[in-house]
Amino acid sequence: MNSNARLSLADLSLPRRRSTLIAMAERFGPILPTYGVVAVDGNWMCECGEASCKAGKHPRIKSWVTRATKDTRQIADWAMRWPLANWAIHCTEINVVDLDRKPGKPDGVITLACWEDALGVTTPDSVRVTTGTGIQIYFQPGGLKTTSNSDGTGIDVRAKGGYCMCPGSRHVNGNVYQIDIDEGLEPCPEWLIKSLTVPAPQEVGHEWSSAPSTKRNSIPYSKIGEGGAFWLDPAAKLNAWEVLRIEQLCQRKPKFAATWAMDRRNQFQFRGGRNSSSEYESAIAFYLRRDGWSAQQIMDAITVWRREHDLPAPKYHSRYRATIGKAVSLVTVNPMVVKEPKRAWKDEEPEAGLLDDLPGAPKRPREIVEEFGLDAAAVRTAMTRRAYGSRF
Ligand SMILES: [Zn+2]
Repeated sequence: MNSNARLSLADLSLPRRRSTLIAMAERFGPILPTYGVVAVDGNWMCECGEASCKAGKHPRIKSWVTRATKDTRQIADWAMRWPLANWAIHCTEINVVDLDRKPGKPDGVITLACWEDALGVTTPDSVRVTTGTGIQIYFQPGGLKTTSNSDGTGIDVRAKGGYCMCPGSRHVNGNVYQIDIDEGLEPCPEWLIKSLTVPAPQEVGHEWSSAPSTKRNSIPYSKIGEGGAFWLDPAAKLNAWEVLRIEQLCQRKPKFAATWAMDRRNQFQFRGGRNSSSEYESAIAFYLRRDGWSAQQIMDAITVWRREHDLPAPKYHSRYRATIGKAVSLVTVNPMVVKEPKRAWKDEEPEAGLLDDLPGAPKRPREIVEEFGLDAAAVRTAMTRRAYGSRF
């Protein structure tokens, strides 16, 4: 059994369970009991005992579409009859956008972040529920139809004729559905309704500059849930290779140089003339991913970049998970090739061969140049070659 000790509806006393359910129905619409999730020999299993059911999610009653109810006596009756039940909400008075995050599957949270970025919008907080495997956003009803992961977006929609699990239900993985944000039900924004009802494109552009325009309704989405885990380290530093690589990218790619310098207001303007740090961070993530950087390296680079521009250290893991996850899942790795300068070698002996014996933490190329009195170009070449693991 996992360590999630959070109380589920089934853990409440009958009077508390009853009043909670009645309040839930009043707020979100008609509810129905489903089979519950129970602990058997230390494992969470569906109450029904079948091996292949929609565990903890299939209705206890027939004709649930018509029988789901807000009637307090009916709810009390069901609550007494099935004390271990999970509960579901028939989505007639709410529309639910269900962002799924299962390993190896399209990640709905990243898809939504892509849409927000591509369209320059944000999703209202409304009511947000943490589910067994993701997030659900409850909106006022209207404009949405029940769909399931259309076009590999990792997003399900629940409207009339569909139901979502009620907060307080237990997922078969042990997690309890739980309201995390409650700003009151807001309408689902038009752009989201459109995004959810327009088929996603088959092909996705690989470069930031070719990110699909909003006109064609071609919106990037996450292909695979391969966001890559990373830590947020406010004191992150770049190693010598990373520092060198940034320098090289700045030298050879003016657009990257302008991005790293946080100066794209005049040349290389972002879409819509936006100029906030998040545009820069996305661009950095895309460039570095293309150059073969891992999610952790990109996060560290962004942290260093923020520090260099006197911005506060990154705080919100979720925000960067979206930005970096998107880069990792959308960008094809194609590292920039740097040819070695002619003066790098003397008498078949690399001047910078000394570097292999350097102890301890990596140093910035400049420090190495000063400390060992080496030719700067040679140091760079050596560091690059070393990082790629060739020849030395
Ligand atoms: Zn079952």
